[in-house]
Amino acid sequence: MKNLLDLSYEELVAEVTSLGLERYRADQILDWVFNKKVNNFDEMTNLSKQHRALLKEHFSIPFLKLLDKKVSRIDGTTKFLWELEDGNTIESVMLFHPDRITACISTQVGCPVKCIFCATGMSGFVRNLTTGEIVAQILSMEREEKKKIGNVVYMGMGEPLLNYENTIKSIRILNHKKMGNIGIRRITISTVGIPDRIIQLAEEGLDVKLALSLHAPTNFKRDQLVPLNKKYSIEEILNAVKIYQKKTGNRVTIEYVLIKGMNDEISDAKKLAEILKNMKIFVNLIPVNPTAEDLKKPSRERLLAFKRILLENGIEAEIRREKGSDIEAACGQLRLKRIKSTS
Ligand code: SAH
Ligand code: SF4
Repeated sequence: MKNLLDLSYEELVAEVTSLGLERYRADQILDWVFNKKVNNFDEMTNLSKQHRALLKEHFSIPFLKLLDKKVSRIDGTTKFLWELEDGNTIESVMLFHPDRITACISTQVGCPVKCIFCATGMSGFVRNLTTGEIVAQILSMEREEKKKIGNVVYMGMGEPLLNYENTIKSIRILNHKKMGNIGIRRITISTVGIPDRIIQLAEEGLDVKLALSLHAPTNFKRDQLVPLNKKYSIEEILNAVKIYQKKTGNRVTIEYVLIKGMNDEISDAKKLAEILKNMKIFVNLIPVNPTAEDLKKPSRERLLAFKRILLENGIEAEIRREKGSDIEAACGQLRLKRIKSTS
């Protein structure tokens, strides 16, 4: 039995034709699954009974099992807790903007990188998600809310570039006209920075957006926030980003989680401006969501001063507004509640 959501368009066409069905049957199936959110062959009424029975023998279409759902009273941000077929759980978030709906999705159960401020990192690493599990997050949220998702950010649980193959394949599926039909420039991968993978991504011919989680301007400081920095230094990562930019021409977003007393000094802002000089970037300043006692948000004045230094040095920057703070749906908070309540 194959998971249909693991298959690329070409793979599905090959499978369907090898079962003796016409090519266009693949398009019909995909219309049921991706547009109508039907994951049961019995309901696919434009296929003959015989074909439905045959397909049922060969494919499963596992949408995710909803365990819990929380809706923010402030802005409607909705957080979903799903159970996977092996009993592991992951979270996804749906964010509502006036003109679009964005989904924040996970790529791993837990994360091996263990950034000190990240709830996902604290929960340890269990396994990579399959392509189908990544795709199913989108379909399951759309089915649940009866709304179409227009933008996707790979910013949920896990490090997408450490689950490279499944991440890339899921992007091709979500982007494909007859499948997810989400514009490629509306899909963002957020990475802690794996140099070889960033360079590989540049070669994919995918015009996906890239966000780099930098968080500190020196290796000394970054080592303390992002343990993986000891393996891949800031210089190596930025060098890979430059190669990526040369190839794609794309502007890259730099994410910088600001933590009081750790990386929010005025001297940090100056140094950051210096290392990002001449790069086509945009800096997103994210006040930390406190996941531990010693992690505090900087004061409003400090946030503004930090941003001002960047702007004065020719670096575009913005302070990210939080969404869903009352349901802990913000970046880095996914799964914390459960871990706390089960420990
Ligand atoms: N592993 C990838 C993507 C998932 S994390 C990455 O690190 O980029 C998505 C974003 O949430 C990252 O920028 C991460 O630094 C940020 N984040 C994690 N914990 C956070 C916290 N406690 N407060 C604010 N942002 C956090
Ligand atoms: Fe992993 Fe990203 Fe969390 Fe770091 S911030 S532990 S890379 S999910």
